[in-house]
Parts: sequence; structure tokens; C-alpha cells
Amino acid sequence: MSPDTVPARIERAWHVLSTDEVVRALATDTHAGLAPAEAAARLARHGPNRLREGRRRSPLRMLLDQFTDFMILVLLAAAVVSGFIGDAVDTIVILVIVVLNAVIGFVQEYRAERAIAALKALAAPNAHVKRGGESAVIPADELVPGDVVLLEAGNAVPADLRLVEAAQLRIDEAALTGESQAVEKQTGRLHEEDLPLGDRRNLAYKGTLLTYGRGRGVVVATGMDTELGRIAGLLGAEEEVKTPLQKRLARFGRVLSIVVLAISALVFVTGVLRGEPLLLMALTAISLAVAAIPEALPAVVTVALALGARKMVRANALIRKLPAVETLGSVTYICSDKTGTLTENRMRVDEAYAEGETVRALEPGVAQRAVWRTLLSALAISNDARATESGEVIGDPTEIALYRAAERAGLRKAELLPLAPRAAELPFDSDRARMTTLHRISSSPPREGRGEEGLGDAVPSPPPLSRMAGEGRSIVAFTKGAPEKLLPLCVNQLADDGVGSLDPEAVQATAERMAAEGLRVLAVAVRAWPALPDPLEVETVERDLTFVGLVGLLDPPRAEAKDAVRECRTAGITPVMITGDHPATARAIAERLEIVAPGAEVLTGRELARMSLPEFEERVERVRVYARVAPQQKIKIVQALQDKGEFVAMTGDGVNDAPALKRADIGVAMGVTGTDVAKEAGHMILLDDNFATIVRAVREGRRIFDNIRKFIKYTMTSNSGEIWTIFLAPFLGLPIPLLPVHILWINLVTDGLPGLALAAEPGERGLMRRPPRPPNESIFAHGMWQHMLWVGLLMGGVSLLTQAWAIHVGNDNWQTMVFTVLTLSQLGHALAIRSERDSLFRQGLASNAPLLGAVVLTFALQLATIYVPFLNPVFKTAPLAAGELAFCLAMSSVVFVAVEIEKALVRRGWLYAASAGA
Ligand code: ATP
Repeated sequence: MSPDTVPARIERAWHVLSTDEVVRALATDTHAGLAPAEAAARLARHGPNRLREGRRRSPLRMLLDQFTDFMILVLLAAAVVSGFIGDAVDTIVILVIVVLNAVIGFVQEYRAERAIAALKALAAPNAHVKRGGESAVIPADELVPGDVVLLEAGNAVPADLRLVEAAQLRIDEAALTGESQAVEKQTGRLHEEDLPLGDRRNLAYKGTLLTYGRGRGVVVATGMDTELGRIAGLLGAEEEVKTPLQKRLARFGRVLSIVVLAISALVFVTGVLRGEPLLLMALTAISLAVAAIPEALPAVVTVALALGARKMVRANALIRKLPAVETLGSVTYICSDKTGTLTENRMRVDEAYAEGETVRALEPGVAQRAVWRTLLSALAISNDARATESGEVIGDPTEIALYRAAERAGLRKAELLPLAPRAAELPFDSDRARMTTLHRISSSPPREGRGEEGLGDAVPSPPPLSRMAGEGRSIVAFTKGAPEKLLPLCVNQLADDGVGSLDPEAVQATAERMAAEGLRVLAVAVRAWPALPDPLEVETVERDLTFVGLVGLLDPPRAEAKDAVRECRTAGITPVMITGDHPATARAIAERLEIVAPGAEVLTGRELARMSLPEFEERVERVRVYARVAPQQKIKIVQALQDKGEFVAMTGDGVNDAPALKRADIGVAMGVTGTDVAKEAGHMILLDDNFATIVRAVREGRRIFDNIRKFIKYTMTSNSGEIWTIFLAPFLGLPIPLLPVHILWINLVTDGLPGLALAAEPGERGLMRRPPRPPNESIFAHGMWQHMLWVGLLMGGVSLLTQAWAIHVGNDNWQTMVFTVLTLSQLGHALAIRSERDSLFRQGLASNAPLLGAVVLTFALQLATIYVPFLNPVFKTAPLAAGELAFCLAMSSVVFVAVEIEKALVRRGWLYAASAGA
């Protein structure tokens, strides 16, 4: 069908059509999917499968928004008025400065927006489709009506689908219908046209989550045409979330604005009373208010967080929720999965056991023996790993390891499966910790000339399987899973000559020994059926099994994990391992990683389930290793830790991990092995699934928070210096020290450039040797507000002293000198507060090149305002003599020296005892 015959907007009651009708209506093929060219044509026609974003601010809007601040408008009005009445140059300078200020603000915001958009794009989901007969993974954005989508547990449904295949498919549609119970799906046509959404059981909706099973569906609607799109259209834009720090700063800003306005009013009144010109005083007061009201602080925090998040992506930590950047530094517990996060997830079979015998290397010779051959056949065909055309084996690492082990012993899935095709399955889930596949066995007699080594004979004939199955049995079921969950279901044991009695204790003891060596142990069992069991349920199928053997898989700890664990310890963070594996396996790996000392206690999921929350809370802070834990139990661990006042990061990958990820303070989803469901729930995605990345992210979070603090410290101290200077002058009998242009210039250049460069400050020494920051601790803690007051006062002091002295000796350049001293003392301050503890001489000037550059540039600009002749009338300055400049330098360096002394006192523990650097 040509694209023209597929209507652009398809609105139909798809659930009343049969699958064939759907396929015909959408001109597709449920197996081959759409041809790529056809898909491209439809994409052009229907547009991307994307929900329309809420009104995005255009760059122009963003620029204009910079001028909407009330005080800026007042300033502009006052400047224009003063231009008409008096000095036009002043007005122009003020306008230019305000515009420059807006441009800087705009550039920053724009960069932040871009960074956030880039992060969003990185976190966008993919879809598994059939196109032109091939399987492909494509960005979900590119889906078109008619596409055939493959679904498996953990996927987010990428578009509205009419299901054409559903194997125990269950979908959580809470996002759409509010119904929290997952809906069981089917493929048959329904008859009532106006069924509510939740009852259209042969449809799957965009944005809902597959909690179980697998399926296949034909896309019937994309983007805004989907049911989700309709709701999104109704609801409009999503509100932007503010981080805790932003909220607090906004509150603080409101209070501060009132204080600043009061001071400005006072400055105005005292000035006028002393006979200064009215207009000049008005402009001065307004400029002071504009300079000192920190209206941009929350925006600056967004910028810092967004740019920080962009940097973190390069270190494999993808932030989904911006506030996480800020709160990462507060993490006190990191609860991590074992497999793949603390270990490499590169499993290989290290040991196997059958018939009372242990084998280290599964080589072709092993498969000569009947029971071993059955064990290996089970590993090969009761296996979800598969080889791609290029020969690469893909799937779950446990499955891949088993696939490879069987292959090495000469039993290849591709050759065996045709002889025993899979007829049904009970998929793996971590609660049962096992899975079953059922295979149809051809009942033809053993073929001539195929002896013991014949691959085709491994399953089902010749003995022992066929004998065990007996006459008329055509189905063989393989079950594999955790030994202690499987052995109780076994009634006997496979032997070369049929079945023998099973000694569960002996087998269990072997499994325990293997586990204590750090191996993941799986038991394998078998059962024959005359026909496919009906109903096909766990309770009926997974019972009365015949035990075959054990396999032990080795998964080495990640090389970098041990150092990361150690770093956690010095940083006051407790690393905790949570695994579905056996306690002995868990303990062995935890000991190797030094998460626990040898012989430490391991809490099992069963014990955890028995404990009430208060009982568990008694113990939770002592437990470092949890084993045989079901994902649902993670939420109990998070809850208990949070009740104990801990700030918890929790990792997860599966569907059942989602609630715990949401509940955790930092939910960490796996990027490689994680399901869409987990990613959606997480605050952060680990692109490399690596524990060490979490620790690096915490370090980065601490650094970013420190730098936000430094930025605030710098700006607020500078503002405080400007306020003190102007406010105190009249009380000391001095004329107004600075003109409006000076105030605005200092606010723009001096406060602006070095302040921004503080974001580039590398992490403090000892960043990961100090305890986590309490999440509700004030940003002004550890002596910051005291610092803002006294250093501001000192800046004001040296400026006014300069002014008083210069006036005293009859120097006409006193205003230029005050202007210079205030600017230079702020630059010195920027250099001094780069660290909270270390002296600048220890840090070295070059360790923050952007800041050094900003300081040098600002210094040069300041000299330009003084020494470039045509700028003198603009800035109302006069060239300073060398001696005067030297005097200014000396006066302003007082601030630098004083702050260095402050840090020395902090280092000795004499000041702000619980300093952030302690
Ligand atoms: P971790 O927390 O270390 O990542 P996990 O919680 O993901 O581990 P699961 O994958 O749920 O652990 O496995 C739990 C148990 O289920 C394993 O110890 C193993 O006994 C069994 N198991 C794991 N994979 C399979 C599989 N493919 N087939 C059968 N049983 C399995």
C-alpha cells in the first residue's frame, strides 16, 4: 500500500478488529514489519512519535525575560528620566550595562536549557521493532503506524499498539487509567466498541509499563494521537520542578530584597537630607537595589546543576531529575545490586556437579555420559540467549554463560532446538528464582549411525531422556534456578540408567560449598509430560521434578569496585550489597570487595520478610549484605534506612525495583541491563552499570554543591561590601562613595565573571574524606553568613578608609580610588575563597584557569576604565598616579590576606568548628 492510503490520522476502535483486519488496514506484516522505505515515508507523513513539549520558551522570549525583573524596569525608567533631565551619557552607559547583564543571563540560561534538552534526549527510550524482516532497535520517536513492535517485561510501551501476540503479557496502566493492578492482555478481538480504555485488553498504550511476559503489537497510533498524547494535550505543560536549594534561595531572596530595598530607601533619604541632588540619589539607590538583590540566584543554581549534569554524563552518570545533582552529596547509604554493578556481569561456568561428581572444565568428553549430556542439553536449550547473525551471543549474562558452557562441551543450541522446539515456558522471575521451558520431543526412534557423540541424540533420544519420558510422552520440561528453591520440588534424581533416589542434603551441601566460593549456583531438573500441561501454571508444572545437576557460575568483582567501596568509607557513606543470590555467594563477594569483614552477618530475604518494620529498623544500620532478597523487599530497606535518618541511594534494573527506586532519595537505574520501567523510576541512570560511577557521581555532586556555595558566598559578600560602603559613608560624614555607573559596573563585571568561573573550581582536597552534608542543612552553614557579613564589612571598611584618607589629603581622585579598591578587593576575595580551607598558595593559581582568566580580564577592564582616556568621562574616572594605584592595591589586598587568615584558623579547627572541609 502506498503511504497515501494510510490516513494521516487514524482514529478507529482497533480493539473490535481482528488482528488480520488490523494488519490489512495498516498495510503491514506481523513478522517482517514495514519495509524501511515505507516506514520513512510514513514518518514523514505522521511526524515523530513524540508528545508535544509544553510551551518551550523561544530564545527571544528567554532574552526578554531577563528584563522583566521589577527593579531592572525601575532602573531603566529612572535612567531614561535622568537622561532627559541631565546626563545622557549616564543613561546610555546604564542601558548598555543592563543589556550586557541581560545577555550574560540569557547565555547562561540558554546553555542550561540546551544541557537539559541534551540529557532528555539521551534518556529517551528505544523500541524493538521488525523492519524489512530484521529485528532492530530504533529510537521510539521514529515509530510509525503499522510498525511491528516486540515487547518484553520491563519495556515501556512506546506507542499505542494492537497486540497480535501476548504470552502472559501483563501491563501496568496506572499512568493512563490510575488502576494500579496490572492488566492481563490478550490478542482476540473484542466486541463492544465503547469499552473503557482499561478494558480494551488487546491494546497496549504508549507510556504504560510491561510488568510481565512478552508480546508483539502493531502500532496503531503515535505521538499526540495516542491515548497518552490526548491526555498530555489536555494537561498541557509539565511544571518545572524546583530543587530544595532553589526553593530555599527563592525564599531567602524575598527576605533579602525587602532588607535591601529598606537600605536603599534609607540611602536615598539620608542623601537627599544631606543636600545631594534628588535624581542622583534616586539613581544611586535604585542601582544599589539592582546590584544587591540576588534575583538571579535560583537561575544560577539551575545553570550550575544543568552544566554539572552535562559533565556527569561524560562520567557515565546520566541525571534524569536535576535536583539529584544537588542532593547526591548528601548520600549516606549506597545500596547496590551485586551482579553487574559490583561484579563484572561476565559470568562463566566454573564448576558443575552431577551424579555425585564435580567437574571443573566442561569439555566435549563430559557430554559422553548420559546424565551430563542431559544437564548440558538443558543448559543449551532451556536458555534465552541467542546468537545473532554475526555470531555474537546476546541475552542475560547468566544465560549466555550457560549457553557457552554447553557449546564448549559440544552441545549447540542452534542444532538441538530443532529437535526439541520450545512449546511453552514459565519465564524467569526473581521471586521464584527459577524458570521452566517445555519442549516438544519428536517421538521418532533413534536414527541409525548416530552414536553417543551424535549431537542430535543428546535430546531427546537415546537414553536417558526418552527412557525417562517413557512411551507416549512427548513433552520434556527443564526447570533451572536457585538450588534451595528447586530441590524441594524434586522427587528423585536422574541416573545413567533411569532415575535414582535423591539425597537433597548432600546436593544442598555441595551447592553451599560452591556458593561459599563466590559462585552463583543453579540447579537443573527435568520432567516429562504426555502433552502440554493444562493449565500451564507454576504450581502444576514446577513439581515432581527429577534433579539433574548443578552449575556454578563465576562473576568476578569489578576491579574498580574495591577502591570505590573504600572511598565510600572515608566519605562517611555505607556501601550495602543487595542480591538475589545465595547468602554464601553474597558474603564471599562482599568480603572480596571489603564491604564486610570476614564472617559478617548476611540478612536473607526470608528473615527480612519475617521482621516487622520497627524490628528491622533496630538492625538495619548494622546489615551490609542482603541475600535472596526479592526486589519488592528493597523498598522496606529504603524505608527503614530513611526512618533512621539516612539518605539513601538505591540501584535497580527490573520492573519490581521501580517502587524502591522512586522511594529512594537517589534512585539509580542501570543503563545497560536496566528496563525502561526502572529507568523511568530512577533519578539517575548509570550508563555503565558500574558501582564506582555512583561514587564518582557523589563526588561530583559534592563538588558542584561546594561550588554553588562558593558562588553564593562570592556574590553575597560582594553585595554586602557594596551595601556597607554606600550605607555607612553618610554616617561617617563622607560623600556618596560611588556613582550609579560604578555600582552597576561592579555588579556586572566584577561580580559576574569571576563568580561564573567559580563553577569550574576542581573538587576540594578531602572532598571524599568528610561526612555527607545533612540534606536540610542551610547553605549558609559552616560560617558562611558570618563570612558574608564580616568580609563585606571589611571591604566597605577599606573602601571608606581609602575615601576618607584621600579626601583628607585633598586628593581629587578619591572616587576613582574607592571604585578601584572595591573592585580589586572583590577580585582578591574571589581568589581567596576558591577553597574553604586550603590557602591559595597550596592550591596554585593555575588550578582554576577560567577563574584566573576572569580575574586577569576583570583587572584589565578595571584599568581600562581608569586609563583609557575616552572611558574616563563615561565612568567618571580619572587616571590614577602610580602611587595611588599602588595604594589601592595595598588596601584591597587586605581582604585577601584576611580571608587567608580565616582559612588558616579553619584549618586549625579554631573557627567554624564543624566546617565543611572537616
Ligand atoms: P543481583 O542483585 O546480584 O544482581 P539479582 O537479584 O538480579 O542479583 P536474580 O537475577 O534475581 O538476582 O537471580 C536470583 C537467583 O535466581 C540466582 O541466584 C539464581 O539462583 C537464579 N537465577 C538467576 N538467573 C537465572 C536464570 N537465567 N535461570 C534460572 N535461574 C536463575
